[in-house]
Amino acid sequence: MVKISLNGKEVQVKENATILEVANEYNIDIPTLCNDEKLAPFGSCWLCVVEVEGAKSLVPSCATKVREGMVVRTDTENIKKARRLCLELLFSDHYGDCLPPCQATCPAGVDIKKYLAFTREGNYTEAVKVIKENNPLPLICGRVCTRPCEEACRRNIVDEPVAIDFVKRFVADYDNQNGSFSPEVNKSSGKKVALIGAGPASLSAAYYLAIMGHACTIYEALPKPGGMLRYGIPEYRLPKKVLDDEIKKITDLGVEIKNNMALGNEITLEDLRKDYDAVFIGTGAHGSYKLGVEGEDLEGILSGIEFLRDMGLEKEVKLKGKIAIVGGGNTAIDAARTSLRLGADEVTIVYRRTEKEMPANDIEIKEAKHEGVNLHFLAAPTKVIGENGKVKAIECIKMELGEPDASGRQRPVPIEGSNFTIDIDFVIAAIGQFPQADILQQEGFETSRWKTIVTKNGSYVTNLEGVFAAGDVVTGAATAVEAIAGGKKAAISIDRYLKGEKLEGFKNLFTVSKGALEEIDKNEFEEERKPRQKMPELNLDERLASFKEVELGLDEHQAQEEANRCLKCGCEIEKDCILRNYGMEYEANLEKFKGGKKHKYPLDLSYTKISRDPNKCIRCGRCARICVEVKKIGALGFVNRGFEAIIDPPFGYNLAQTNCDGCGECVISCPTAALYSEEFPKNKAIL
Ligand code: FAD
Repeated sequence: MVKISLNGKEVQVKENATILEVANEYNIDIPTLCNDEKLAPFGSCWLCVVEVEGAKSLVPSCATKVREGMVVRTDTENIKKARRLCLELLFSDHYGDCLPPCQATCPAGVDIKKYLAFTREGNYTEAVKVIKENNPLPLICGRVCTRPCEEACRRNIVDEPVAIDFVKRFVADYDNQNGSFSPEVNKSSGKKVALIGAGPASLSAAYYLAIMGHACTIYEALPKPGGMLRYGIPEYRLPKKVLDDEIKKITDLGVEIKNNMALGNEITLEDLRKDYDAVFIGTGAHGSYKLGVEGEDLEGILSGIEFLRDMGLEKEVKLKGKIAIVGGGNTAIDAARTSLRLGADEVTIVYRRTEKEMPANDIEIKEAKHEGVNLHFLAAPTKVIGENGKVKAIECIKMELGEPDASGRQRPVPIEGSNFTIDIDFVIAAIGQFPQADILQQEGFETSRWKTIVTKNGSYVTNLEGVFAAGDVVTGAATAVEAIAGGKKAAISIDRYLKGEKLEGFKNLFTVSKGALEEIDKNEFEEERKPRQKMPELNLDERLASFKEVELGLDEHQAQEEANRCLKCGCEIEKDCILRNYGMEYEANLEKFKGGKKHKYPLDLSYTKISRDPNKCIRCGRCARICVEVKKIGALGFVNRGFEAIIDPPFGYNLAQTNCDGCGECVISCPTAALYSEEFPKNKAIL
């Protein structure tokens, strides 16, 4: 036995043991990718480095034996930095998608691949269960989501993206009509949470808090719950019956909703903080910008948000003649399509940039055009002209695109002397929304210059103790799925707070990506082309004569076809990948060596038992050494030198051409999915 100092503690350890073995004995975690108990130390990954007093540099703990009086440290900042750098170098030549890009792009992180797989099996309840792990509003999102997932879908490289959202709507509708999925709810925690505003952020937060066992009461200022989903998005896109069905699934969990109860009027934060253990603010962004031009106060000028809210409140809205709508977002398009349905003769959207820069969903722009909305690009209002106190015309100026602004979009610049007028009867201003900061400030919230609530270090807690916030009131006007994602994270933070745990931010998703669609070689996806299923729609006459839902939903066959178009991207061992787990633990920066060369090798799927993806190989050497030194087979070995070194079968063979006996030892020892087989799970002992 010898005596050493290990992280400041004197310990007696076996002579001849390595530092790594000793650390393991004392439950001190040292990461390693290349060490294997079946093999002699190799020291190729350099991840297990530690500090030894007197040594000139860090030493690999797997290959360094203890000696009397040795002073070892395994946990200094210097060591962490070295390990991080090591991982960053390994990731710089690790080509793959840890997560399917659809999931990585979804703000709520829904496991899309998994619910498409359940859809293929016809197990729609399980599909909904998977969605609801991260998004409790699939009936709604299946209709209105902005679908960043589809933009990232690798199928774009083959033909068109998988219609992910249409499938989501199909399974959610099916589940709604055929006995619905309901999550298990924990037993009561005895804690009470008040949530202000009944939009998607609060509904999502309440759903997850209720599951955690906390009693939730939502206070809503307007007569019914839903937020902008009810008082912004029109009936023909999201029927109120669908919204009611989805909200009922949340109230069925015991969540209470009290309508006509506004913070600042019927209720105060002070009272709520006395009566509840935590408070959540999800009041959205209901203020709207004015045009800021002469003639703004004439009769016939409406705010897009107020116009759509009045529709949601089922007020009688009289609108006729020629309508000009100023703006390029969803509010502008919804106001335009609603105006047509109310019987307007002519509807023109005036937008200061081009169609490419319009923030509205592409599909909404397409539908608006199809229904007869005129789009006037590169124009901005300069004056509203009136007659007898009422709007008569709008004067605009032509614009051209200049240098990019802070948003990255080209700034519109007026062309002097290009003014022109359009005769109109009504103007609807839809140029942006913001939270109603006056009420928030009155209640003591710290707000930003964009009038949003400021939250601390990514934990969704505000400047007021026990008060959390998410959704549009924090981000500014954004999207339903972002509000849903924020609501869930806030619920997790609230739960931590109620349990007296430390509040911390949510780490960014750690996922290696093959890159943007345009960076990927088309030949990687040798897939048969299969056209995307078309969403059945109401015909034009019926649309314009009513507020009936326009999109009718895929049938079961179509949903199956779409689910079958999924390319099943992402890594087979996503959660079990040792490299990825270390990357997360050491917060490796995947951008660090981004510009460097990355190998792209063909896959070796020649052998049915074991698949090889050399793009994911980190050259730790374990598979080859086990195959040669332990198994004495040699189906795999090091080929080439330096940066070109790779582990391959000999003589340019594929695996099926070698004498591999399919024992799976190489798969079990591989710390990534460079070698994979369903038959041989990864060695959990080293995970
Ligand atoms: P909200 O949905 O705004 O809900 C906030 C709730 O708080 C409201 O019910 C409000 O009445 C209530 N409230 C406010 N003040 C108080 C108070 N003092 N006391 C009590 N309650 C209060 N997103 C998409 O993803 N896809 C789309 O197609 C889409 N279309 C849109 C169309 C329009 C016209 C608009 C306006 C928005 C659209 N959005 C769309 C955006 C999306 O609706 C919002 O991002 C989302 O609803 C924000 O959710 P939230 O819960 O933060 O706030």
